[in-house]
Amino acid sequence: MSQEQLLPYREASDPTYAAAFLDGPFTWDVTDGMLVLRGRCPRCAVAIEAAFPDELVRSGGTSPEPGTHQDKLTLVCTCRCDHPQRPPEVQEGCGAYWALSLTSDAP
Ligand SMILES: [Zn+2]
Ligand SMILES: [Zn+2]
Repeated sequence: MSQEQLLPYREASDPTYAAAFLDGPFTWDVTDGMLVLRGRCPRCAVAIEAAFPDELVRSGGTSPEPGTHQDKLTLVCTCRCDHPQRPPEVQEGCGAYWALSLTSDAP
């Protein structure tokens, strides 16, 4: 087969996704109050980017209600590949999603 076969779109998660995501060329930085994560989709191996409001991620701080901060982020694949069987209302991604646990190892 000379043509590359894309995986069909499927909403799926796997316990290995998070580790695979962090294992790839993963970088993050904070820009304008947004935490930007860059890595590779563990399912279709395409470079993706996800942004989260920084306050969502920071534990404690000025959080009005203690205990409401999130230490888990759910990432979804936002690739631009043309995965077959992708529903018309979905514009991007292969359907893979995974949760990242953020441990505050900041000093
Ligand atoms: Zn993907
Ligand atoms: Zn893809």
